[in-house]
Amino acid sequence: MNTSLSTNNLFIPSSPLPRVIIIGGGFAGIEFGKKLSHEKFQLVMLDRHNYHTFQPLLYQVATSGLEPDSISMPLRKIFAHRKNSYFRLCEVLAVEPDKKLLRTNIGQLTYDYLIIATGSSTNYFGMENIMRYAMPMKSVPEALDLRSLILQNIEQSLLVDDKKIRQSFLDIVIVGGGPTGVELAGALSELKNHVLPNDYSEIDFRLMNIHIVEMGARLLGGMSEKASEKAQEFLEDFGVKVWLGVSVTDCNDIEVKLSSGGTLFTKTLIWTAGVQGMAIDGIPPASVTKGNRILVDEFSKVSGAENIFAVGDVAAMVTKENSHPHPMVAQVAIQQGRLLAKNLNLSLRKKPMIPFRYRDLGTLATIGRNRAVADFAFVRLQGRIAWFTWLFIHLMQLVGFRNRLVVLVNWMWSYVSYDSAIRLIIRPFIRRKKLQEGQ
Ligand SMILES: Cc1cc2nc3c(=O)[nH]c(=O)nc-3n(C[C@H](O)[C@H](O)[C@H](O)COP(=O)(O)OP(=O)(O)OC[C@H]3O[C@@H](n4cnc5c(N)ncnc54)[C@H](O)[C@@H]3O)c2cc1C
Repeated sequence: MNTSLSTNNLFIPSSPLPRVIIIGGGFAGIEFGKKLSHEKFQLVMLDRHNYHTFQPLLYQVATSGLEPDSISMPLRKIFAHRKNSYFRLCEVLAVEPDKKLLRTNIGQLTYDYLIIATGSSTNYFGMENIMRYAMPMKSVPEALDLRSLILQNIEQSLLVDDKKIRQSFLDIVIVGGGPTGVELAGALSELKNHVLPNDYSEIDFRLMNIHIVEMGARLLGGMSEKASEKAQEFLEDFGVKVWLGVSVTDCNDIEVKLSSGGTLFTKTLIWTAGVQGMAIDGIPPASVTKGNRILVDEFSKVSGAENIFAVGDVAAMVTKENSHPHPMVAQVAIQQGRLLAKNLNLSLRKKPMIPFRYRDLGTLATIGRNRAVADFAFVRLQGRIAWFTWLFIHLMQLVGFRNRLVVLVNWMWSYVSYDSAIRLIIRPFIRRKKLQEGQ
């Protein structure tokens, strides 16, 4: 039981219940928090944002399709009516496992159980120029930066004489042909083909190029070959230029160097080519993988640390049965968060914990209006049926009825009107800020 008050300057009330701290209100964190017994544990959630983000729809924020508030939900609202639950807005800095102490930027707090659900961040593989000039898309602020940059660059293209520079303001290069890159390329081409020409009569958008660069031999490498083939066909139909077997080796503020020897010119370089875990300081180094994920057993327990667990993207569950960590996807995070809560509930009743088994519910990617691909265990779908399936699943997974309704209305409006009304530069993107962050 937690007794120490001297190490509680986050002002969490003392309680006879064991204190469970969960770092991160993402998919894993909120599922864990919902399923943990609130009668038997004190729950403290810490997050650097005061909201949960539905990351699969971030690309629609970046491409002016949805407002950020329709894919986000205040974390306090999710747990508002639960007993013994507390939230603190803070950045977790490190854990001291021997003292069962967590250090944050607003103070420190002891725990009985610590759950790390910090997710993942963009991996630039140590390429400094990419970090400086490319746009990531892992969070709401980053998606809004991207939305602003795309619109600012189109405005800027009207103000330059030099043909090559004008073109570089219009062209967009996406690095990474996974689901995020493919969905982004599809949404940008819809913007280019249907929406922007209505706003800018001075620009011939047939001259705008959207490139997607993938170092593997096919797009959507994690899906079936049929899905990859169809996704490429759909994108090329929309006019996207697909580069396969090619990687980006360097860049500056206008040039993107390709491993094939070529160069693409753009002021909008988008990086979706790598992710890494967000392990926190203090975890035994032997339990942190090269990709900065935390090694856990089949009960999500961190090896070499007592009462510390990790779930979701940050966890690399390597067991005898499972020599490769699970993919960094929402379903893994949700299922791990749910089972860990159940296991902690069981452990208080002195019952044995249940080992984790991932139930793969399928993979989907949408390319645009009426075009998507879906791989399920027993059926593979492409085109309109896959698209409706994608719409339905994403709508149902969104947190909150209001968000579902707002997104549904937005999608219906865009479908009938070929318009997306959110082409707003609310918070202009300033390159200087990104350069400073990159340093
Ligand atoms: C653009 C994009 C599209 C995606 N599309 C899909 C898709 O279509 N289907 C799919 O299954 N998956 C998709 N994913 C992956 C999916 O979103 C992740 O697998 C999932 O979010 C992982 O959940 P999580 O709970 O582990 O982490 P997250 O959801 O990332 O949550 C981590 C939380 O931890 C907080 N945090 C991190 N570090 C700290 C710290 N030090 N202090 C305080 N708080 C901290 C963060 O603020 C965040 O709220 C996509 C991801 C992205 C980025």
